[in-house]
Amino acid sequence: MSLSKVKHIVLILSGKGGVGKSSITTQLALSLSLSGKSVGVLDLDLTGPSIPRMFGIESSKITQTPQGWLPVTIATNSGRLSVISLGFLLPSRGDAVIWRGPKKTSMVRQFLSDVYWGDEELDYLLIDTPPGTSDEHIALVETLFKDCRREQIAGAVVVTTPQAVATADVRKELNFCKKVGVEVIGVVENMSGFVCPNCSECTNIFGSGGGQVMAEEFKIKFLGRVPIDPQFLVLIESGKRPRYPKGTVVGGEQIGTEGEEE
Ligand code: ADP
Repeated sequence: MSLSKVKHIVLILSGKGGVGKSSITTQLALSLSLSGKSVGVLDLDLTGPSIPRMFGIESSKITQTPQGWLPVTIATNSGRLSVISLGFLLPSRGDAVIWRGPKKTSMVRQFLSDVYWGDEELDYLLIDTPPGTSDEHIALVETLFKDCRREQIAGAVVVTTPQAVATADVRKELNFCKKVGVEVIGVVENMSGFVCPNCSECTNIFGSGGGQVMAEEFKIKFLGRVPIDPQFLVLIESGKRPRYPKGTVVGGEQIGTEGEEE
C-alpha cells in the first residue's frame, strides 16, 4: 500500500485561492528536505496544479512502473524530495481540467493509492489541497482514515492572509477539520506586511494579525507570519528552479551547482 511507509501526513489547507497555500507547501517541503528529511509532495489542487512550476520542474514527467506511478524526485545530499501532481500528466500547461466530482474523487484515490514513494520510509508527505472544502477534501480524508494508521495523520496546516475576508473563509476550514476529526497543526499568516527594500519600513498592505486573532479564538497554534516578498513572487512565477545545493539531481538529471544562475 502506497502510504504505509509515510511517517507523517500533513494537509495544507486554505479558505480561498491565492493566499499562498502552494507557495507555503513548496517552502515547507524544501526546508524539511534541506534539513535532512525525506519529503513527498502530493499536489491535489486538480484544477490549478501549480506545484511543478514552483519547484521549477514543470517539464518533468512521471512514469508508470509495476509498483505504481514514480514521482519526480529532487535528490540533494541532505534529503530526498518527491513530487506528484496532475500537472505532470497534462499535455500542456494551459490545459484545463474540467471534471465532475466523481472523476476528481477517483483521481484523489488513485494518487493516494497508486504512487510509489520508494522503498525507504518517507518522513513527511505534504498534501496541497484545493482552496475551500470540496470533493477532493472529502475523498482525501475518507481515503486517509480508511487506508492509514491514525498516528500517520499528523494534521493540517492552514494558510491565510491577514484580511478578515480571508480569515472568515478559514473558519469554515477549521470547522471542516473539527467535523472530520483532522487535528489542526496551526495557522500560517502569509503576505503579512511588506518590508520596503529601500527604507525597511514595514507596511501592512492587507492588514496584520488576522491569523493570530483567529488562532487564539479557535485555540490553535499560530505558526508565524510570512511577509510579501517581491523576489519570491518573481522567482516562483518565472518557473526557474530554486537554487538547489550542489550535486542535486532532478528527475534523474544532475543540475547546476550551488549559487549558479540557472
Ligand atoms: P494558492 O495556492 O493559495 O492559490 P499560491 O501559492 O499559488 O496561492 O500564491 C498565489 C500567488 O501569490 C503566486 O503568484 C505566488 O507567487 C504569490 N505569493 C504567495 N506568497 C507570497 C509571498 N509571501 N510574497 C510574495 N508573493 C507571494
